[in-house]
Amino acid sequence: MTTLQDAPAVAASARDLHKTYGSGDSEVRALDGVTIDFRAGEFTAIMGPSGSGKSTLMHCLAALDTPTAGGVVVDGVEVGSLGDKALTKLRRERIGFVFQAFNLVPTLSAKENILLPLDLAGRKPDPAWFDTVVDTVGLRDRLGHRPSEMSGGQQQRVACARALMSQPSIVFADEPTGNLDSTSGAEVLRFLRRSVDEFGQTIVMVTHDPVAASYCDRVVFLRDGRVVDELSRPSREQILERMASLQTVSPGVA
Ligand code: ADP
Repeated sequence: MTTLQDAPAVAASARDLHKTYGSGDSEVRALDGVTIDFRAGEFTAIMGPSGSGKSTLMHCLAALDTPTAGGVVVDGVEVGSLGDKALTKLRRERIGFVFQAFNLVPTLSAKENILLPLDLAGRKPDPAWFDTVVDTVGLRDRLGHRPSEMSGGQQQRVACARALMSQPSIVFADEPTGNLDSTSGAEVLRFLRRSVDEFGQTIVMVTHDPVAASYCDRVVFLRDGRVVDELSRPSREQILERMASLQTVSPGVA
């Protein structure tokens, strides 16, 4: 099995990715030729106006959706070549997910939620790694609590810990701070940042929020299903400026 040490320099990539919904007059090109590499150990934000293809791109990259044309490689594996069983294994073992709505199991404790993906895969957790992750997200005294007994920020930190437990090649985070107040959101973002800096984790995050994106090494902008721009280590102001220019020059708007 691949570990973080010998992971390829590119954790995931898309090659000329197309995704079309409908046909004829009602055809929508959600992705219109996206080619992009996500380097290992980097924290990337995907931004763009509503309907620009952010969710579709993330779902295709995370093997949750199938592109109409083009290819996705995750951890050196051509995703399109995998059968159902191998796809499930890839998603379970090599990909971590963090969702806007936390998606924790309400009847399980924080600890049980964190360990659930490993349990499902029939794998034993590494106790030292469990301790590291739990201490990094500051959940040591909450491990016995159920989701309903925790704040939104604490629940999202449980979800982050769950995503990291299998030491995945890449974590996809879909608006992870969308349901949080700014203080809890900042805690989650600081934790994601630390997991990149200290553990070499690769993270790709869809966000609308320039503050969230300013925690990233790289911000990629989509419009009309295409990558139209990117910024390296940008400030919040640079991101805001770029977003404003994307909104105003959108073609097809009279
Ligand atoms: P974003 O995440 O940037 O808001 P999406 O990836 O959700 O954008 O959507 C991109 C485009 O594809 C939009 O025009 C959207 O309406 C369309 N789309 C997304 N999912 C579907 C679907 N299941 N059926 C039809 N059109 C869809």
